[in-house]
Order: sequence, then structure tokens, then C-alpha cells
Amino acid sequence: MKRILQDLSYEEIAALVRGYGEPAFRAKQIFEGLMQGKTLSALPVSASLRARLLDEFEDEPVRIREQFTSKDGTKKYLFKLADGNLIEGVLMKYKYGNTQCVSTQVGCRMGCKFCASTLGGRIRDLSAGEILGQILTVNRAEGGNLKDRAVTNVVLMGSGEPFDNYDNVVRFLRNLTAEGGIRISARNVSLSTCGLVPEMRKFAKEGIPLTLTVSLHATTDAERARTMPIANRYTIAEILAACTEYFEATGRRYIFEYSLIEGENADMVHAKELAQLLRGRPCHVNLIRLNEVKERDLKGTSEETAQKFLEALESLGISATLRRSMGSDIGGACGQLRAKFISKNSFDP
Ligand code: SAH
Repeated sequence: MKRILQDLSYEEIAALVRGYGEPAFRAKQIFEGLMQGKTLSALPVSASLRARLLDEFEDEPVRIREQFTSKDGTKKYLFKLADGNLIEGVLMKYKYGNTQCVSTQVGCRMGCKFCASTLGGRIRDLSAGEILGQILTVNRAEGGNLKDRAVTNVVLMGSGEPFDNYDNVVRFLRNLTAEGGIRISARNVSLSTCGLVPEMRKFAKEGIPLTLTVSLHATTDAERARTMPIANRYTIAEILAACTEYFEATGRRYIFEYSLIEGENADMVHAKELAQLLRGRPCHVNLIRLNEVKERDLKGTSEETAQKFLEALESLGISATLRRSMGSDIGGACGQLRAKFISKNSFDP
């Protein structure tokens, strides 16, 4: 695989152009062209510069391979990377804008028992440009540009653990928010982690005020370890302390995700324990009814149980919402689309 030009910052592209002996204004042409979602072959530069770039860099590092549209307008994408790997993403349409869910790794090695992304382990990390490329490609395909964006919000909740690919994710976030680029503000970005405490603490010092989201899914360390192996490494207490550090550094309220699993974490006693754990914290709880994954034997709760859990949390003073499931008719939980596609089209995606 060649290098990926979308990995580079504006300053790095300027240095590259300088190294080629090209005039400085070429850097802006290249950076803007890339941020508009153009392939290298379509960049508005001289033929000789284009040839030179194509020699060294991938023409189109992230390509839409398949696209599915749900009745509710949600779009699910299967992207093909330059080395043939597949990743998936979703675009959800809301009144206030469109939220794109991006992947940060091909597969995942965190091993959560309810998640489809982790079934085949981690294949490889995505580069910064491969994460950004998902957004640039979709923004363009949806008719957006740098001024009128079709993608207004981003969530790092696709396949992969963002903090297991820390440097590339931070580089991606800097390019996502950079002047002259697509400029999606950190305030419109949510990063979801299973709770890698050292990286959470490091991230608090990066000066990127996004919405930090932690997958909690349990109220005690022992119960958490039943579905999330990472609970054997870091305790809930350590996670909460890291959230406090992030809040102190950025002033941003943080979010806990709590997927309701029948017979596991969805009883009233869990709602009470969760409220006790989070009382007084500047946080919000996102409840999700587990999306059942064919290869796993965990069950989601009924809508009624989820509502009761929500009401219990609210009555105990915890800010919470039950996330409505979108696009369930076009491939459910994260990683399922890719898994389904790979099993159907064994070796040549
Ligand atoms: N690695 C990150 C991002 C994962 S996906 C993390 O762990 O946070 C985003 C959310 O979906 C996480 O909260 C994850 O735990 C949750 N999730 C994964 N599979 C799910 C499923 N089958 N049903 C409901 N939520 C699921």
C-alpha cells in the first residue's frame, strides 16, 4: 500500500510541496481538494504534480463499496480500503443535522461479549486519513461541500476502540477540525471508549473539547468483567476519575453508554446502583437496548423494561435518554454489516 495523503496536515502538505520544488499555493489547492473529497487524480493541480503525488500516495484510500438506505433515511456504508479491507459506517439524519458514525480500526481486540466488531479480532489500525476519508467521501456523495456540509456531526462509534489507535485518532481529530478543511468543531464530535484509562487521561491534555463517551454497561467491576474483558484491567472508579479529569480540563459533560442486556444489567437494582454511582456527576446516560448479534447468546430487553429503567434513573436525578434505534432494517449492531458481507463474499470483497 502506498502512503495516504489525507493523513497529512496542511503544514505537512506545504512541506511536501516545498520539497517537490512546487510553488507554495499548490499546498492550499491540494488540501482543499482533498477536504472536498476529491481523489488524487481529480486534484486541480498540474499534470506533473498529480503524477508525482499518484506515484507516492493512494489515489482513493476510502471508497464506498456498498450503500444501503433505511426507511427512516439512515444510510449504511461499506467502505473498501486500498488494501482491500472493509470497514463500515452509518449516516443518521436528524432535524439538527447529519451524524456520521466512523470506524477507527478494522475489527477490534477489546473482546466485548455483545459486540460483532470484535468477532474476528483486530486486523489493523486505520490511519488518520482513512478515518477522515470516511467523512470526506460521504460528505461529497451526499452533495455537501466545505461550506454546506452534509455531515455536521461525527461519532467515533463504529468498529474499533479509538484509544487503542490513539495517535492516529488524535491526528484525525486535528485534521477534522483544522482551518481550511471540513472544520467540524470538536463540540460536534463524540468519542466512545470502552474505558482505556491511561489514554483517557492523556487525551484530557490534548486540548480537544469533544464529548467523551464511555461504554459502562455495568454497575460493578465484577459484573462488567462478565461482558467486557477490559474491566479486568481498569476499575469503574478509575474510569470515573479519568472522566473528572476530562471535565476539569475541557468543561465538557461526559456520557455513559449503557446497553440493556436481559438478565444481566437491566434490573431495577441495577438502575439504583447506576444512579448511586453517577449521582452529582456532570454526566448523561445513554441507554440502548442491546442489538442482538447472531454469534452471541445475549438478549436485549423489551421496550417496556428499557422504559422502566429510564424512568427509574430519571426519578433518581440522573439525566438519561433511551436511544432510539435507527436503520435497524439495514443491518443492526456495529460490525454486523461487515461480518455479513465478508461471510457472503468470502475472499474477494
Ligand atoms: N470501542 C468503542 C466504540 C464501540 S461502539 C467503545 O467501546 O465505546 C459504540 C457503542 O456500541 C459502545 O458503547 C458499545 O459497547 C456499543 N455496542 C456494541 N455492540 C452492541 C450491541 N450489540 N448492542 C448494543 N450496543 C452495542
